[in-house]
Amino acid sequence: MTTNKTFTMIKPEAVAAGHSGKIIDMIIAAGFKINGMKLTQLSKERAGAFYEVHKERPFYGELVAYMSSGPIVAMALEKENAVADFRKLIGATDPSEAADGTIRKKFAKSKAENAVHGSDSDENAAIEIAFHFAAGELVG
Ligand code: UDP
Ligand code: MG
Repeated sequence: MTTNKTFTMIKPEAVAAGHSGKIIDMIIAAGFKINGMKLTQLSKERAGAFYEVHKERPFYGELVAYMSSGPIVAMALEKENAVADFRKLIGATDPSEAADGTIRKKFAKSKAENAVHGSDSDENAAIEIAFHFAAGELVG
């Protein structure tokens, strides 16, 4: 069963570079509805918890430092087939492998600093939305 919800963050280097507006435009143009949005900065503890699934990976320490290094824009999104369609819109993790026209192809600096996060399953989308938003902060 699909829930038609997904979660994204515009990552610190993309926010700092002033790309947030253009990225949000692309998300809306692709048919996503924004149910929640906030500018916030993750503490190291919160970034570590968000990416806990990657705890054993060699890049975990750098990922946590990077994701807590500056403001992010967190968004709860809605669209039919949201998780898969959003992964398609952002492109591959490594921008050198991302398809033309994708958000990562346009805005990512590297495989680590890759502009945006996208949930990888309906289950994780629900967990990630709840991690960032209280019920009263969401519409729809
Ligand atoms: N990442 C990294 N090095 C890698 C793989 C991933 O720094 O070799 C970072 C990158 O920021 C990525 C995040 O860790 O977006 C989560 O990795 P995942 O494999 O879940 O990629 P995603 O789902 O974001 O495409
Ligand atoms: Mg992932």
